[in-house]
Amino acid sequence: MSIKQEVERRRTFAIISHPDAGKTTLTEKLLLFAGAIQIAGSVKARKASRHASSDWMEIEKQRGISVASSVMQMEYRDCVINLLDTPGHQDFSEDTYRVLTAVDAALMVIDAGNGVEPQTIRLLQVCRARNTPIITFINKLDREVREPLDLLSEIEGHLGMDAVPFSWPVGMGRSFGGVFDIRRNRMRVFRAGQERRDNHDELIEGLDNPAISARFGDMFEKARDEIELIQAAAPAFDHKAFLAGKQTPVFFGSAINNFGVQEVLDALVDLAPQPGPREALQRPVQPDEPKFSGVVFKVQANMDPAHRDRVAFVRVSSGRFQRGMKLRVSRTGKEIRPNNVVSFLSQRRELLDEAYAGDVIGIPNHGVLQLGDVLTEGEQLQFTGLPFFAPELFQAVEVKDPLRTKQLRIGLTQLGEEGAIQVFRPEVAGGALLLGAVGQLQFEVVAHRLKTEYGVDARLMPSRYNMARWFTADDPKVLRKFMDSNVANIAYDVVDAPAFLASSPAQLRVAQELFPDIVFHTMREHG
Ligand code: GDP
Repeated sequence: MSIKQEVERRRTFAIISHPDAGKTTLTEKLLLFAGAIQIAGSVKARKASRHASSDWMEIEKQRGISVASSVMQMEYRDCVINLLDTPGHQDFSEDTYRVLTAVDAALMVIDAGNGVEPQTIRLLQVCRARNTPIITFINKLDREVREPLDLLSEIEGHLGMDAVPFSWPVGMGRSFGGVFDIRRNRMRVFRAGQERRDNHDELIEGLDNPAISARFGDMFEKARDEIELIQAAAPAFDHKAFLAGKQTPVFFGSAINNFGVQEVLDALVDLAPQPGPREALQRPVQPDEPKFSGVVFKVQANMDPAHRDRVAFVRVSSGRFQRGMKLRVSRTGKEIRPNNVVSFLSQRRELLDEAYAGDVIGIPNHGVLQLGDVLTEGEQLQFTGLPFFAPELFQAVEVKDPLRTKQLRIGLTQLGEEGAIQVFRPEVAGGALLLGAVGQLQFEVVAHRLKTEYGVDARLMPSRYNMARWFTADDPKVLRKFMDSNVANIAYDVVDAPAFLASSPAQLRVAQELFPDIVFHTMREHG
């Protein structure tokens, strides 16, 4: 197959949801329907370990498991689907955001009982900022849940885009009758049960079919009224609008009952885009170019703390990756020849040795590869867009044994490069290093890893800061003046980009008023 054909058949998406909406269940069912049954177990394994994540051993175990299961590849209807998991829950961190930079579409799972929940909203903001097309799956219709019309308008409100239902539920909970496929004008009758994966669901044709009315009575009348209302009021599905992130197709179902899953899988193939061009600083890079290029969007430490090796997750941007090929790291000019590449549980042998745009490969290394690094066959390329978000939580860090200061610095530098935490060095000489995070658990993980991997007993202390803004100015003199007048609040991150640290929104506002020519940023893009 040509590179172009390989690219055309790829779909790469992230699955996002608030914890407990049914992401794990749906993931497993998607794999099941695509025929990748052996993989389903690994999803369960991860899930099982997640429940006890306050336990350090469990966090360790989880890190190992999630290397294997955070990217899953499957083949379905001649397409290669790459599914990237986004960590939810307490282990929520910036990683999640960066995963979204490596996909071409997102699948949003919503609990029909709870509607759009906080964690989903944060993820959606990132999707919106990047105009990532979103497919919506409303789950748990086998329960007494909220009115579908309500859910639809809530989604529209939060997404700021039109929600276009492809299916519509007939009843819910105990009286859940099935879903009506609006586009195919037929009803799929609900059957409970988890084990089947057949296509023997009962289908009844026609919205005005008296047989459906006779069987499902009032429930169906209500659904029909709602469908007619939607057809009159809502815009028709427009594929271009979906690709531009302006419309989301909506499906209803029950993941645990394998119901409505097939439709989602088909939508991924039929609606979701193939990998597109990626903007590098030097030039746009087309996915079907002959030469390989890829970006490290996530770095994960491996299980064995003694070896300190890491796996760099590389999203292929162009060309064909072949095991053992020579690659150049744009940032350093170093050459690597990755042989023991981690591939992600694909079904077929030949997928393991080659990868194309949209695929993710895992390259074990000892720190040669950092977040945002670009790999090519020799060309100097830099991609923009790997986001670092302004932390919202800060702690000062000191080492209990001053003789370990150097180890502390080394450890924090490496953990910072990995993106596990953000490290800020205050402008004021002698000030304690500051750790910045978007999730509380990040601190605990870092303290734990400093101890086990670097032999450093770190003391984390409260910090008076709770906001950070990177800043820039066109005029270096203005920049200098701003920094001189705020010495106590200036710190540098891992790449020496200066940030302004504030302890309240008011303090930030004052700085903005005093220095109108300084631009403050909540996000820093790598590159
Ligand atoms: P995650 O946290 O988003 O990965 O959610 P899970 O997939 O672990 O699901 C959370 C809970 O909801 C589990 O107890 C599932 O068994 C349950 N669940 C998932 N899908 C459905 C569904 O369609 N109906 C019902 N009733 N429960 C479901």
